Amino acid sequence: MSLALKALKKSPWVFHVNTGACNNCDIEILDCLTPRFDVERFGVLLVGSIRHADVLLISGPVTQNVLSRLKRLYEAAPRPIKVVAFGACGCRCGIFRDGYNVVGPIDKYIPVDAYIPGCPPKPETIISGIVKVLNQL
Ligand code: SF4
Repeated sequence: MSLALKALKKSPWVFHVNTGACNNCDIEILDCLTPRFDVERFGVLLVGSIRHADVLLISGPVTQNVLSRLKRLYEAAPRPIKVVAFGACGCRCGIFRDGYNVVGPIDKYIPVDAYIPGCPPKPETIISGIVKVLNQL
């Protein structure tokens, strides 16, 4: 395994984007950063730019408004980037699937490496999803 991949396994930097979620998923993601779950102790860091990320974490179904931005974000990501679909809405559009502005699940537009189901997923599920992604490296 190369040195870069070893480093990536030990400190995945995550860029989070909401493509149409109700915000409850986003609150659970932030919960992971609180002292109770403290994912930073595993080296997981939430970053403010896709250009610094190893993992693209997406919550929500894809809406018409964000579709072009989502594609741009994916193209701008450094490689290898791991894409994680978060929540029932990220995986399969969830309760928003019949929404007038919903154009489909994330994997209709960009490749997804891992799915974290739940409405919203608990922090324990989020941590196990991240571990699943890192094991693919
Ligand atoms: S999965 Fe549930 S909590 Fe998450 S965005 Fe959809 S409705 Fe909201």
